[in-house]
Amino acid sequence: MYGKIIFVSIVLLSLLLLNAGCTQDIIEEVSDEETSEVDDEETSSDMILTNGTVYTADKNGTIADTVVVKNGKIIFVGAAAYIGDYQEESMKIIDLEGAMVLPGMIDGHLHAPGTKLTEMYSMNLNGILREEETMETIGKYIKDNPNLEIYYGSGFSIGAFDGEESNKGPNKSRLDALCSDKPIVLNSYDGHVTWMNSKAFEVFGITKDTKAPLGGVIEKDVEGALWGTLKESAQELVPPQEFTQEQKIEALKQFVSFMNSLGYTGIMSISAGDSVPLEDYKTLEKNGELTLHVSASMTMDPEGDIEAQFEEAKILRETYDTENIKFNTLKFFADGVVEGITGYLLEPYESAAGKKADYLGEMQWDVGIMQDAFVAANSKGFQIHVHSIGDGSTRLVLDGLEKAKKEAPEGDYRNVITHLQLVAPEDIQRFAELDVIACTQPYWAFKEPEWWEVIDAPFLGDRAEKEYPLQSFYNAGVKVTSSSDHPVTPYPNPFWAIETGVTRNLANAEFYGVEKITNKDDPQWLLWPEERVSVTDMLKAYTINGAYQLFGEAEFGSIEVGKSADFVVIDKNPIDLCPLKIDSIKVKKTIFRGKIVYEASEENIN
Ligand SMILES: [Zn+2]
Repeated sequence: MYGKIIFVSIVLLSLLLLNAGCTQDIIEEVSDEETSEVDDEETSSDMILTNGTVYTADKNGTIADTVVVKNGKIIFVGAAAYIGDYQEESMKIIDLEGAMVLPGMIDGHLHAPGTKLTEMYSMNLNGILREEETMETIGKYIKDNPNLEIYYGSGFSIGAFDGEESNKGPNKSRLDALCSDKPIVLNSYDGHVTWMNSKAFEVFGITKDTKAPLGGVIEKDVEGALWGTLKESAQELVPPQEFTQEQKIEALKQFVSFMNSLGYTGIMSISAGDSVPLEDYKTLEKNGELTLHVSASMTMDPEGDIEAQFEEAKILRETYDTENIKFNTLKFFADGVVEGITGYLLEPYESAAGKKADYLGEMQWDVGIMQDAFVAANSKGFQIHVHSIGDGSTRLVLDGLEKAKKEAPEGDYRNVITHLQLVAPEDIQRFAELDVIACTQPYWAFKEPEWWEVIDAPFLGDRAEKEYPLQSFYNAGVKVTSSSDHPVTPYPNPFWAIETGVTRNLANAEFYGVEKITNKDDPQWLLWPEERVSVTDMLKAYTINGAYQLFGEAEFGSIEVGKSADFVVIDKNPIDLCPLKIDSIKVKKTIFRGKIVYEASEENIN
């Protein structure tokens, strides 16, 4: 087996040598341009990682024990015995001591800078799952910050509330009781609901008679008075918290380090409502601090001038095409979310959702306009990335992508549908037929405490037992990627997602404040076990498939000769491990382009 790797290495190396002139030029050009202030000496070196288990994510799923890195690229993968001339005296030798090496993780859908701005500069409610703690945290923040003019915060969970509040969202009276003379504006962790006190409605001029914009909801009580929440596009009636440029850059920098610490070397950065932090990414890159491959997107606004948006996107595509930053993706919302009762379903919501009997949810766009926009987006060479939760929505999105495939010029667009909470079984095959990538969030593929029982089961009935298909996509030959939708998943540890994808059961019990399970078939949190996937399929989703989604598979995503030296070194081998222990895997080192960008301290590992 290793002989074959050596052979492949040599063939690839010869190919590189044949192109040596050209490659050399490119390398020199880049280093001339970069007058980086960061001291490269400390972290960057040619290196040999050896005495470990290297999962390459190549076509054959090859396992090796040694990797050699030179000038940020992989020049050898295989068995140490065959290292030969690839070893040079100046190379740093990293003894893996049996540790596992994977290609750097790639998150196919998240919102930078995640929770960092909130953690650093406002009220942080992320990860709080229960009502009492939510209210305590808000009360304490107001008490601790008596001089603020407006209380902004983020991260609350609708699932923390019961009864009518579990569908409309929490009532404004709860916030009025904590503060009635200054506005409180709180965003839900999934970004789909804003909860405010009465003063905020008054200050921002929203009354019971205010008309919600297209695709938005201003919740009312039975008498027609304001309830306290704004959903989807209605949230735009309230200006978001403003941050200074310095604050934004600092938050993004911390976010990049955070992602590196979890083993990531690549992300699909989805714009978070207002704008994409593209310029901030560029600032980090200039400072040598952008240690991730970033592919970025822009969210399309259905009510706006679509042609003007395409023009803007074209300019962004030309402006942001650097070593680590690419822009070529347009993000569309097709529907909302189940908890907002805005996910668009094939069959009506259950009566517990509090809507009239035949209510299917909401598409965010006129379907015809959405589908035409898909055709236009592909025609202009953009990748389409669609948020779709409900089975009704996903069917209409697939119809649109089918239209795009027929009407746009033939091309390599790699369109993506993400979330995919409910998918009609007959639609799964269409992903493969239309070359649509299924960008999944395996973190959610179990009966989540404080959530599934409160929201999914009552709103969806029996359908809640068949959420978040995974294996069906693999069976149909669909390209599957994995992602966190962070900050929707507040802590995007890829190993939690891998465990959940493999077991379809509770991972990381501590985070949810519940007891650990000792059997992966334990029925309490188990969701649709037929959709379990293998560890290696999960690893591929996070590496080579993720790179494919980012149009980066020629450069990264697997440990193969000629590719960027992006690795994560972990303390245990997930392929051999008892599946219920995958969540305990710790990142020892993250390497990006041959530089160590994260190194755990000893206590973190042991
Ligand atoms: Zn998202």
